[in-house]
Amino acid sequence: MTLDFPRAARVTPAKGVFIDNEWRAVARTIPVVAPAEGVVFAEIAAGGAAEIDAAVAAARRAFEGGAWSRLSATERGRLLSRLGQLILDNFDELAALEARDCGKPMKTARADIEAAARYFEFYGGAADKVHGEQIPFQRGYYVTGERDPLGVTGHIIPWNYPAQMIGRTLGPALAMGNATVLKPAEDACLTPLRIAELAAEAGFPPGAINVVPGYGHEAGQALADHPGIDFIAFTGSPRVGVMIQTAAAQNHIGCVLELGGKSPQILFEDADLEAALPVVVGAIVQNAGQTCSAGARLLVHKGLWDRLMPMVAERFAALRAGAPDDTPDLGPIISARQQAAVQSFIARAEAEGVPVIARGARQEAAPEGGFYVDPVVFGPVPRDNALARDEVFGPVLAAIPFEDEADAVALANGTDYGLIAGVWTRDTARAIRVARQIRAGQVYVNAYGAGGGIELPFGGVKKSGHGREKGFEALYEFSALKTLVIKHD
Ligand code: NAP
Ligand code: MG
Repeated sequence: MTLDFPRAARVTPAKGVFIDNEWRAVARTIPVVAPAEGVVFAEIAAGGAAEIDAAVAAARRAFEGGAWSRLSATERGRLLSRLGQLILDNFDELAALEARDCGKPMKTARADIEAAARYFEFYGGAADKVHGEQIPFQRGYYVTGERDPLGVTGHIIPWNYPAQMIGRTLGPALAMGNATVLKPAEDACLTPLRIAELAAEAGFPPGAINVVPGYGHEAGQALADHPGIDFIAFTGSPRVGVMIQTAAAQNHIGCVLELGGKSPQILFEDADLEAALPVVVGAIVQNAGQTCSAGARLLVHKGLWDRLMPMVAERFAALRAGAPDDTPDLGPIISARQQAAVQSFIARAEAEGVPVIARGARQEAAPEGGFYVDPVVFGPVPRDNALARDEVFGPVLAAIPFEDEADAVALANGTDYGLIAGVWTRDTARAIRVARQIRAGQVYVNAYGAGGGIELPFGGVKKSGHGREKGFEALYEFSALKTLVIKHD
């Protein structure tokens, strides 16, 4: 199959909201813009409070007495695995859709669809492997701990990895037997809508998966506030994260929040530069820097700075931003609004005199209307500069020299965030010592995995949020421990 991205507007009409395995028409629509070209090419439904209400009711019916509630863990796992297979069966279509909707290079879009399938496969396999435990107690008692589903779970995901995010958030929730309502981001939600349709084809009973696209302040807020949900999972900005947590408190329910970061890559003087360099550049350029776990800070030992930075500069200067099918190094930013936010961050740093080490460019073929930002590396970035502390969510690397090991740890921990980190050194003892002192959900040694690792528990501390997704850990997050105490004599 050849993939084409006609650079002209082509409107695909909205199908509506997906409730009880059916599309329901909604009067209002939202135009969908292709970020690589800046043109409208589709529409989605603008779901609101009424649609969220209907979706929560459908999920409730599925959870309480519906066909979904009667399935065994093995049967739920089989459905999840089947959905993973259907994603692979429709691989080219989904990759093209993701690339057009998000502006991702085709290589990235393909990797994302592969990861989406992997999430459903992983949680399909795991569904019937969550074992309970037997707890020694007083004489005459038999006590077990087992995992119950939470009920109806709400899920709000961002626009940066829509296909991966639907797998990451719905996979574990469904594996544990919850019925789900998903509100994807209005800026990119075409693959989640298609995957919902594939879920019905896979045989998920009505109400297990409901997807309501719409604006955050309408559909998103209605879902977060809804008294009919039992848990909410949110990935996005700290600002909205506060609102989600407040709404969850009003409903006395739990939440998992993943709110981004300002993740450091720490390079000691004995680092294997050949191995580190492509990873350092890739971890901030991946998805045009719009990755919660982007390697946004490069912390470099002062003795390595003069040797390393020209190499980083050479790589950055060679980077080219462009449209999905032109095999660029990076794509555009998701929207004109986000592009303006990233550009103003860069302009502020320049106005404050932060030195630019190197800057990439846009490909000559990149469409005029696309939301491109030239990747840039700044340094040395003063430690009190916003660029050293705040999330940019664009292809902007902040390089900062450090004095010694203690200084590196202090710098690494010196932001409000704590999501992931990378430590590069050939000294194993130092690697472990430093990794143990870093406050983050994941620490890599001589490696870095921005967004990677379906099997690896993932989440933040501090302003990066709380709770864990991915891996087996997510199955615990989306379930509640019930202690069963039986007196037998
Ligand atoms: P955002 O507003 O937090 O959006 C995330 C999700 O929350 C979207 O589905 C959004 O819907 C929804 N939402 C927005 N307002 C809501 C509300 N009042 N109640 C319930 N849900 C609501 O993030 P953004 O504005 O797209 O991006 C802003 C910044 O957030 C970025 O620059 C970046 O720093 C950060 N961010 C982080 C991640 C991450 O992976 N941690 C992902 C995306 C963004 P709509 O988009 O449809 O309005
Ligand atoms: Mg879009």
